[in-house]
Amino acid sequence: MDTTRFDDDLRAMLDEVESDRRGEPSDYLEDVAGQHVDGLAVAVCTVDGHQAAAGETEHAFALQSVSKALTYAVVLQEIGLDHVLEDVGVEPSGESFNHLSLHDDGRPCNPLINAGAILVHSLLPAGDEDERTALLLRRYSALAGVELEVCEDVLDAERTRADRNLGLAHLLADAGRLPISAREAVAGYLAQCSVLVTAPQLAVMGATLAAGGTNPVTGERVLDEWVAQQAMSVMLTCGMYDASGQWVAEVGVPAKSGVSGALLGAVPGALGLATWSPRLDEQGNSRRGIGLFEGLSARWDLHVLQHRGALRGLSGPR
Ligand code: GLU
Repeated sequence: MDTTRFDDDLRAMLDEVESDRRGEPSDYLEDVAGQHVDGLAVAVCTVDGHQAAAGETEHAFALQSVSKALTYAVVLQEIGLDHVLEDVGVEPSGESFNHLSLHDDGRPCNPLINAGAILVHSLLPAGDEDERTALLLRRYSALAGVELEVCEDVLDAERTRADRNLGLAHLLADAGRLPISAREAVAGYLAQCSVLVTAPQLAVMGATLAAGGTNPVTGERVLDEWVAQQAMSVMLTCGMYDASGQWVAEVGVPAKSGVSGALLGAVPGALGLATWSPRLDEQGNSRRGIGLFEGLSARWDLHVLQHRGALRGLSGPR
């Protein structure tokens, strides 16, 4: 990949989507100081640590549902895949993010819908809510290569809108699925949603997944390769709420979106890509973020299912 094109391509793509004002931002932003709904940023980091960015690259936004993929990776790393699969599946639900989508056996369908994400958070091996959040902040920070923090303003805004999540958690608790109280599980889950990042920091997190778990900027191994692979698998199949199938067809990049307008992509062996733009479409995905990913996936051939002549080595003379 020709990385000298990055700056020009990122700027050209920003210009293309800049004037799009369709969609509405999530209502929680009304209660968060310093937010502006027409902000826009894009950033890329390759698996060998080459970085580029354009737009409002200093603006920090909440991870929101992007955190679900990251916490899934952290929990896989801590307690292992078999243990996690006992409690949460890996099937796309085809329903909205906060629908109570459960398998017949009572497991949430996947870790990227709210029921699954709340349950995955509750599996973090730590004594109490503060310890769970501290563990996550350490791992998120290692993924990004900088110290990350929870934004209290965002957390307050989330707490005042927590009824649906509390409802999901109580149903999980009633089914005997939560190892901690519903209140504690939701409190911790909302804290992980409220961690702030900039687009360049988020791109490094994506690059760490794309590089098989080693942060390409700091050189630190944060996750095992199989963990990065599992995290990107659910991002590919379930990462874009109920538009996940269309996303694979059109963009083809393992990704996770959040209602802050954040969008994280990871192309295995190549790069991490992050965008931020708060106006959302009907599915809750960032409108201009989708436009940026579509454009960059086409320009840089990022679709992970594209034909790369994988069998070419088998077709030569014996
Ligand atoms: N805090 C939000 C919730 O669980 C996250 C939503 C999202 O980004 O999809 O309701």
